[in-house]
Amino acid sequence: MKIKSLLIIAIFTLGSLCGQNIKSPSEFLGYEIGSRFTRHHSVVDYFKYVHENLTNVKLEKYGESNEHRPLYVTYVSSQKNIDNLENIRKDNLTQTGIIDGKSDSKTAIVWLSYNVHGNEASSTEAAMLTLHELVTNKKTWLENTIVIIDPCINPDGRDRYVNWYNQVKSTPYNVAQDAKEHDEPWPGGRPNHYLFDLNRDWAWASQVESQQRIKVYNKWMPHIHVDFHEQGINSPYYFAPAAEPFHEIISDWQRDFQTQIGKNHARYFDKEGWLYFTRESFDLLYPSYGDTYPTFMGAIGMTYEQAGHGRAGLGIKTDEGEILTLKDRAIHHMTTGLSTVEISSKNAQKLNSEFKKFFDTKKLMYKSYVLRNDNEDKMNRLRRLLDIHEITYQNAKKGTVKGYAYNTQKESKFNTSSKDIVIHSNQPKGKMVKVLFEPNAKLTDSLTYDITAWSLPYAHGFNAIASKTKINSLTYSNTNSISNSEDRSSYAYISKWNSLDDATFLGDLLQQHIVPRFTEKAFTIDGKSFDRGTLIILRNDNRNDDFDTKLVSIANKHRRSLTSVSSGFVNSGVDFGSYSVKPINKQKIAVLSGKGTSSLSFGEIWHFFETQLKYPITIINSDRFDSTDFLNYDVIIVPDGYYNGILNKPTLEKVKKWVRSGGTLIAIGNALNSFSDQKGYALKKKKSKKDSVKANLIPYAKRERKSVANLITGSVFKGKIDNTHPLGFGYANEYFSLKLSGTSYEYLKDGNNVAYFDKNTKNVSGYAGSKALENVPESLLFGEEQMGRGSIIYMVDNPLFRSFWENGKLFVANAVFFLNSDTLK
Ligand SMILES: [Zn+2]
Repeated sequence: MKIKSLLIIAIFTLGSLCGQNIKSPSEFLGYEIGSRFTRHHSVVDYFKYVHENLTNVKLEKYGESNEHRPLYVTYVSSQKNIDNLENIRKDNLTQTGIIDGKSDSKTAIVWLSYNVHGNEASSTEAAMLTLHELVTNKKTWLENTIVIIDPCINPDGRDRYVNWYNQVKSTPYNVAQDAKEHDEPWPGGRPNHYLFDLNRDWAWASQVESQQRIKVYNKWMPHIHVDFHEQGINSPYYFAPAAEPFHEIISDWQRDFQTQIGKNHARYFDKEGWLYFTRESFDLLYPSYGDTYPTFMGAIGMTYEQAGHGRAGLGIKTDEGEILTLKDRAIHHMTTGLSTVEISSKNAQKLNSEFKKFFDTKKLMYKSYVLRNDNEDKMNRLRRLLDIHEITYQNAKKGTVKGYAYNTQKESKFNTSSKDIVIHSNQPKGKMVKVLFEPNAKLTDSLTYDITAWSLPYAHGFNAIASKTKINSLTYSNTNSISNSEDRSSYAYISKWNSLDDATFLGDLLQQHIVPRFTEKAFTIDGKSFDRGTLIILRNDNRNDDFDTKLVSIANKHRRSLTSVSSGFVNSGVDFGSYSVKPINKQKIAVLSGKGTSSLSFGEIWHFFETQLKYPITIINSDRFDSTDFLNYDVIIVPDGYYNGILNKPTLEKVKKWVRSGGTLIAIGNALNSFSDQKGYALKKKKSKKDSVKANLIPYAKRERKSVANLITGSVFKGKIDNTHPLGFGYANEYFSLKLSGTSYEYLKDGNNVAYFDKNTKNVSGYAGSKALENVPESLLFGEEQMGRGSIIYMVDNPLFRSFWENGKLFVANAVFFLNSDTLK
């Protein structure tokens, strides 16, 4: 009896451990992989099923998407390794210096990330196939390798695509390129809920999916990271090695091993006769991709691109007449995934020893970056970002530091206080520190189509110095605590205005029916000085019994410091009854979305108002814009986009009429095209100087490079600010802007040029094409054209771009709350 039951247990255990009895995705789901798109919950079900039936597969929920879909990683390895998972993880971290101690790590750690772009949907199907292969036919590789699989980074985007496709597809599927099932509607399934491109968000971590994923990533610090993508239907498969430019910190080993991986894939592709290419198009510079971020954290980070994308459906006829099917797409991605695990397993030891070397930071030129802390809110925002990446920081010691000054781009010095922050490059994440903080990334090639500058002191608006010698520092401490109390005898309460947190506080006051004012002129009262933009909350405007209690509680919640005063009579400046102390209306805001709108720009605005300013907006579809009653709104925001047909002549007339009656229209980026050189609008585009060569004699092979001369794809320029204008309140008189296009506009002739580039403007950081550069000096950055009682705000650069240019966000809040705020009631 006993023997018999032991035998049964033994058979059961054997079956469960060896994995041969585990169902394939097709067996589990009831249809062949490739014959349908699998919705996210079914993908999760399959991973759960494998985990529940195999003890060498571990599933870990690491979070939730915006739309509350679960996010998972799966650990797949030998039983021995899975039993020892925590020790292996820690052992790996000792190699980086994150954990102290000696390491003899020999296990390769390979991380496979699928479906970051939701409509590149073959990769999640491949994730299921890959898991099944690993636990059945490829188990020997797992002896010395841990494979971490994230089957779907962006489930909201994936299901947006899959649900749409399932609704419109023909049966059987139609391969004609014209068919509806190949024409995904706006905004498409590529981005996440807030329409952010998660493959641009790793370093900025503005999205919940990134924030939660990076936590697990940093817990593991894998040796290999693959980000699976899809490109146009006519392209062959792309895999590593990547294209130039490579960021300079990428080591020879990281370059080398990419080539070894590529060659291993090529073996499989050659055998099947599949087409592929390497070393073109996909570069390794901008740090916020799924290949660069891991690379700058010491891994071999790679992007693999299969032909497909939101156009391909279950099958489509390519321009060459081939039928590209979902099944083939999934098999290609499975092949490269498995090949990656194979070559990593073969080189496990070397992967570990070379990984360790990456964390030697001795040769980095700048040893310390010192940031002047003159704005606690900005500092907190930066610290939050550093905390996400587990980059450490300290307080400066009182003294003098010398080095490269970001504000002047010259060798300079400043006196430090113990509130200033120091980030040393001699730390495990030192190379990432260099990438994020260095004033200028070195470009080995100008052919990149992403931004080429992102230095955090510019993005966050800090006066900073990069020092070649290590600066003395102290353990970081934050003793700043804010607690306000009620003063029922006060005449008014006062609160400063110089950060986004102040704007969020204001938004909350308005929503809770407190009436605030702002001052257009600086003043001094009770010996304290207050700048333009300062919020003044008068008792006379708020005659409710619970006014003090409510205000203090809102201020404490937002950690805003209130100053109470017993009189409105100031020492200098304007008294509180002055015309310059203006009431702020609870602005009703409409934002244009849909066709014509850049979904990314719309998403940035949506995300900004909902998650940062926490202030309501009404989203209006662009095809209903001409029939919208504008009088229901105080502010209309037109995101970056191309509005031919939407902002047509009659609608532009309607806009003008509404603005004259007191509205504020905010136009961003390419939306300015619809207003420039139009009758009745002051905005004028700068014309490019004519090329001296009349006939096009540029050799065909050099055309691509030549066109780069017209490009600015994201580089930093120093602008001037008129901070006496409400749009510039809370800013110093200089501002570093991330310029995103080669298009420039003339100064507004009769309007207010609040932010602009003067005649000496130079490119401070990043690449700018020589022709595009000619037009930047003496051009507009942010301007106001007044019309009647309202105005139009032109934002040439987009301050909400990818939500990472923190120092630009207050301009948007200023435009919304301080302009024409008192005219529409
Ligand atoms: Zn992609």
